[in-house]
Amino acid sequence: MKKLAINGGEKLRTNPFPAYNTIGTEEEEAVLRVLRSGKLSTYLGAWHEDFYGGSEVRAFEKAWATFFGVKHAISVNSATSGLICAVGAAGIEAGDEVIVSPYTMSASAVAPLFYGGIPVFADIEKDTYCLDPKSVERKITHKTKAIIVVDIFGQPYDVEAINAIAKKHNLIVIEDAAQAPGAMYKESYAGTLGDMGVFSLNYHKHIHSGEGGVIVTNDDALANKLQLIRNHAESVIANKGFSSSAELVNMVGFNFRMTEMECAVAREQLKKLPSLLQTRQGNVAYINEALKSIPCLKTTKTREHAKHAFYVHPLEFDASLAGGVHRDIFIKAVKAELPRTIMRDDSDVLIGCGYVKPIYLQPMFAHKIAFGSKGYPFNFSSITYQKGDCPVCENLHFERLFTHELMRPGMSRNDMDDVVKAFVKVWENREELV
Ligand SMILES: *Cc1c(COP(=O)(O)O)cnc(C)c1O
Repeated sequence: MKKLAINGGEKLRTNPFPAYNTIGTEEEEAVLRVLRSGKLSTYLGAWHEDFYGGSEVRAFEKAWATFFGVKHAISVNSATSGLICAVGAAGIEAGDEVIVSPYTMSASAVAPLFYGGIPVFADIEKDTYCLDPKSVERKITHKTKAIIVVDIFGQPYDVEAINAIAKKHNLIVIEDAAQAPGAMYKESYAGTLGDMGVFSLNYHKHIHSGEGGVIVTNDDALANKLQLIRNHAESVIANKGFSSSAELVNMVGFNFRMTEMECAVAREQLKKLPSLLQTRQGNVAYINEALKSIPCLKTTKTREHAKHAFYVHPLEFDASLAGGVHRDIFIKAVKAELPRTIMRDDSDVLIGCGYVKPIYLQPMFAHKIAFGSKGYPFNFSSITYQKGDCPVCENLHFERLFTHELMRPGMSRNDMDDVVKAFVKVWENREELV
């Protein structure tokens, strides 16, 4: 009789794991306050005081800027929109190269395309999964204008090395901190480490308002452009006193505005961030310690002077220490032992092999078709994208890395003990998997 659930043995646990739900009476009251006022959004796409949004938008932006210790916080309807605004404000135009990470949510790599920019993928560091400064430096050409760094999984990028490269080559650093609200490098928050930082408030993030995002910057001129791109730039540009052709660059606007209700919810959520983060970090430390007994697992490194926000908990699997069992089989066996999580996909056990497929392997890059059928904007460049471009990323994704979310606040010690027991059970019975 086989022991592992994947082979027909008894499951270690069937009772679902608790939900991660950060929404409570505070958000409920905030929504009702706005709803009762009747003013669900007072934005105007014309030159008026309300060009910058209503009272909830502004109160939220003020709270965000204060919390993160930054001069400007600009709310937008998603981090994707925020990244597009940041690329626009950076002045990216057709044929400009922007160095991006292959290992991130796709929006942070494709944002340059909206302005005709060419994403150039640099490889990632093997132990932090953030952009590798050495690879970044090798990818710089006379066409490079910006770097989009990603604080992937909640780990701040290599601030000192990458900012030094950017300074040397006069590049703008856009920091995608969607997964890292509250992460720190030395005394500064992730998101404030580059020229512009972008946060997400979508449902899956640490804190959320359903959908939403925030861009932060200490640069007045960039803040001005971000606000314009968010809200129909072209119709107010004259009132702003922009007139020279240099000032008109990328001043075509969108409607990327957040509503009053979303901002009211987001302001309550921000108050909860520190304690949610602390619980999450404590949970990761607990699980890391317990998993140390399993030789084929390796816990992630947190960069020196950094505080990790653990959007997910990344770990590595070494098949050579597991009798040759492949990561995918091992993890599949662990998942078979565990239950789903309440409020998430019905059958989903929140453990995944790898993260997203290295982005340059997506069909868009293989075929170099983005906007229209003629290859724009790739036809401004001779770049090619293919398997092997970022070997560290590929090895991690296809062979070594896995992540789980079973450390989110709401998980009790008992729940986490079950997660660990599932790993131990599969480890002890690994010969069943050969
Ligand atoms: C979630 C996420 C985004 C996109 O956020 P949205 O608010 O859904 O647009 C961008 N980058 C990273 C790294 C993310 O995790």
